[in-house]
Amino acid sequence: MSFVERPTLSQDEATGEHVWRRWLADEGCQERCVQEWIPPCARLVIVAPHPDDEILACGGLISAHAAQGGRVLSVAVTDGEDSHGESSPFNREELAEIRRSEQVLGLRRLGLSDPEVLALALRDGCVRPQSDVLLDRLMSLLQPGDVVVSTWENDGHPDHDTTGYMVNLASAATGCRFLAAPVWMWHWATPADVRVPWRRLRGMSLTPEDVSRKQAGLAAHQSQLVSRNFSLGAALDDAIVKRAAWPTEYYFV
Ligand SMILES: [Zn+2]
Repeated sequence: MSFVERPTLSQDEATGEHVWRRWLADEGCQERCVQEWIPPCARLVIVAPHPDDEILACGGLISAHAAQGGRVLSVAVTDGEDSHGESSPFNREELAEIRRSEQVLGLRRLGLSDPEVLALALRDGCVRPQSDVLLDRLMSLLQPGDVVVSTWENDGHPDHDTTGYMVNLASAATGCRFLAAPVWMWHWATPADVRVPWRRLRGMSLTPEDVSRKQAGLAAHQSQLVSRNFSLGAALDDAIVKRAAWPTEYYFV
């Protein structure tokens, strides 16, 4: 996550898991197991705007694909070096290094013994002005048959939105299947919110082992889980940490 964010509800107002899951079940949101999302022979490519988005978006899917012997490539669009704002005890280079280390550790905890991470090092919070660079890199690395996951293009954070939009374009142009994961949407939306294309939403059932590995992977991102300084709390609040324990991940298809 980056310093700029656009939730419209406070943490206390954000809709809770039981409300979401009951409503999604009533709406007939389909759930599929991992094998229906990605065959073991396919490469899973995660395009994360910031370190930790790969866990928040699809940590369970990464865990499940690793468990079935599948290959995973994680593309780090930025190093998340602006997550602590101007009053950080770390300078940008230090924070980037911390977050890159956390990202690798988190992926290891998902079951990848030697995580394959490609760092694009675009400036955190400024993906939109660098979207041509992002598109060029994606076009050169995506291969037909890849299953590609990134953030949803209307997630509510400028880096998430731009990344999702560009990954969608590149996936369509290269013959890849794209799954758009809502991360911040759960924070600002409410059930039946007209801004959200609910009919395109599908669920992926996670095993208890996948949920457990996802939580361990998120815990690797310590820089985002503790107060950043005397005036800024943790970048990842309790609501988003609780969402990482849901037994289902959701994607727009
Ligand atoms: Zn993010």
